[in-house]
Amino acid sequence: MHKLLKISKHTFGMGDRFAHQGLAQLRAIMLAREAGYPVSPVWNKSNREHTIVHSQPDDLRAEADAAVAALGWQDDYYVDADHIGLQTVDRFLASSNFFTLDVADFTGKPADAASLSAFADSMAAYLGELAIPGIAPALVLTADAVGAAAAKFLLAMQEAGRIYRYLAEHKGADNFVTEVSVDETDSPQTPVELLLILAMLAREGVPVQTIAPKFTGRFNKGVDYVGNLAQFEREFDEDLSVIAYAIGEFGLPASLKLSIHSGSDKFSLYPIINRLVKQHAAGLHVKTAGTTWLEEVIGLAEAGGEGLALAKAVYAGACARFDELTGPYATVIDIDRAQLPDPDAVAGWSSDQFAAALRHEANCAEYNRHFRQLIHVGFKVAAELGSRYTDALVANADIIARNVTDNLFERHLTPLYSCNTVS
Ligand SMILES: [Zn+2]
Repeated sequence: MHKLLKISKHTFGMGDRFAHQGLAQLRAIMLAREAGYPVSPVWNKSNREHTIVHSQPDDLRAEADAAVAALGWQDDYYVDADHIGLQTVDRFLASSNFFTLDVADFTGKPADAASLSAFADSMAAYLGELAIPGIAPALVLTADAVGAAAAKFLLAMQEAGRIYRYLAEHKGADNFVTEVSVDETDSPQTPVELLLILAMLAREGVPVQTIAPKFTGRFNKGVDYVGNLAQFEREFDEDLSVIAYAIGEFGLPASLKLSIHSGSDKFSLYPIINRLVKQHAAGLHVKTAGTTWLEEVIGLAEAGGEGLALAKAVYAGACARFDELTGPYATVIDIDRAQLPDPDAVAGWSSDQFAAALRHEANCAEYNRHFRQLIHVGFKVAAELGSRYTDALVANADIIARNVTDNLFERHLTPLYSCNTVS
């Protein structure tokens, strides 16, 4: 049917702001393989992030290829042009084999009347109770729900079609994986909306292999999930059933799976995801990014000396530019300024104090999620330090790498894939 580069069933996305941790990240994937977790690496970086740190998509490709060569990785791996659109995709064409089509800007805007009615007609046969295996009581599809979803998402999925066709033309349809993301929208999508979005993508001829909905609850950057775990579990379970149904019903690729954006550090969700993905024998993509940058800062702090001084400088700089740095992330961070330590006090902290406040160990009394979220968005400060920052990454490479690898393997991949995870 569709020509495409088929993605592996289980993939794990990793971001690396300053392009120094590729080896440490791949080591975490290799530890996961040794433990029997069937996961393949994806290196992802958004256009927004490239712009802030002044890197190029080719740099990420070079980093991934170098890590793969150095560690002798024999299996598949991907380089993800994360959150791109027609305006930004060109410089990613050569280096990426995975494209995350971000069509959030096109949601909520109406498609033309003919398209809207054609979509409504195409769903007429599905109105009423949907016999989706695994979902009971059955979801009910109404004409109103079809109309509302089309009004909100049809133009966006048509745009996904335009981006996909542009990629197929310039890259070759069998040379890349297509992800569609609607996570950066105002409200979460219900399982019924997910089904309708997939129907729209199928009609547009987009061979979507990973779909990133916005799930219920708060997926704040670098910290744990905040929301109703029972509701998340019910909807995630239904989403998995919807995906399996959509593959058969709409002729989408058999490799289609859910992608969880802002997926790092959602420790309370991992046991639920682990269990449900196994129950459904489903695939999974989890996208992480800034959690690796936070481990860099932890490693620098632990190193002491210039490393600790840099970690403190990042925090002081982020405090001084709070509004500028947090503004673009307003919907994905929740920082209570009253809970932030005074930068003058932090200036006197030891390595252990700094690392304990930043490291994501919720049971540690010193852990401070407000401090952590502010540093998460503070990478612009480090970027502006230029070679002073990157020289410190080189000088302290070992201690940083240990933190990066342990974080991804022990706190992320193990609870996501281990058979011994209890929830
Ligand atoms: Zn996203």
